[in-house]
Amino acid sequence: MKILVVGGAGFIGSHCVRQLLAAGHEPLILDNFVYGHRDSIPQGLTVYDGDMGDISFTQPILEKEKVDIVMHFAAFAYVGESTTDPLKYYDNNISKTVHLLQAMRNTKVNTFIFSSSCTIFGDTNEMPLHEDVPRQAFSPYGQTKQDVEVLLGYCAKAYGLSYACFRYFNASGADPDGKIGEDHDPETHLIPLAIQAARGQRDKLVIFGTDYPTPDGTCLRDYIHVNDLSRAHIASFEKLQTPGTELHYNLGTGKPSSVLEVINTVEDVTGLKVPHEFGPRRPGDVPAAYAYPEKAIKELNWDIEFLDIKSIVETAWKWHQSNPNGFEE
Ligand code: UDP
Repeated sequence: MKILVVGGAGFIGSHCVRQLLAAGHEPLILDNFVYGHRDSIPQGLTVYDGDMGDISFTQPILEKEKVDIVMHFAAFAYVGESTTDPLKYYDNNISKTVHLLQAMRNTKVNTFIFSSSCTIFGDTNEMPLHEDVPRQAFSPYGQTKQDVEVLLGYCAKAYGLSYACFRYFNASGADPDGKIGEDHDPETHLIPLAIQAARGQRDKLVIFGTDYPTPDGTCLRDYIHVNDLSRAHIASFEKLQTPGTELHYNLGTGKPSSVLEVINTVEDVTGLKVPHEFGPRRPGDVPAAYAYPEKAIKELNWDIEFLDIKSIVETAWKWHQSNPNGFEE
């Protein structure tokens, strides 16, 4: 199938592009390169450099390319920044998504895959998180994801849009070939930060909170390999062929790791110490978030290749070893 991958030069988008190619599909990339990396794009692919919210840009592409599916990975995703600049998040994550959907409607492209997030569940005691847990986001970022999910439901009913919302837990790891991986600026994610601290690229890692109601007092998260995430998207294509299909899946391994366990794993995999100190809680962090992934496993025949945190960190370490400063461009 022909897929327009919006945000295809970002962390998850670029991994999905490779998985699409491996599965015999034809991806095209649309990215504005605010956060994306040109070096993450395989040679020979068509790249449209521009704004997903500009209908005069996206509509001719959709008309010309006759794509079957639009995948949308192009959200802003810094939770903290979303609280200090909510308009930036509502503009990019909601307004521009509305315009992208409008361009799809104008050109009769009727299938959409949306990167949602476990943050839509907010701070809940219902754990593990299955798909029926009520959405109650509490950050502007999480709210933008929740709002797009709701909008997609309306579009399915009104226009027969078929869509899938994938709620990612902690996307991590890197393609095992070591050629692409995680490179955010600024970097805020635990695994790359711990690896950079181990390599001496940062003074130390600060552990945000040690008094959570968890076995070791640090937060529990569900780290899911970025290639496993990508393969779940591809596994949904068949179901999405029926107009008006609405799919929601929580994508995690279901096996949580604490911050301290991640640090220990990074030390184990790299053979290096991770200099760290204990700090206060980071505002907005929930004590625990992990998935009950059975729905995706059953309905999509999704198999999780990287089931343990060590196998995920190994791939991240391989990427960091060969690209200590991330992508060149
Ligand atoms: N974390 C930490 N120190 C850091 C970065 C992250 O202790 O410098 C913790 C954070 O509080 C959370 C976990 O690591 O419990 C994963 O954080 P990350 O930002 O990677 O993902 P999030 O769960 O916020 O999406």
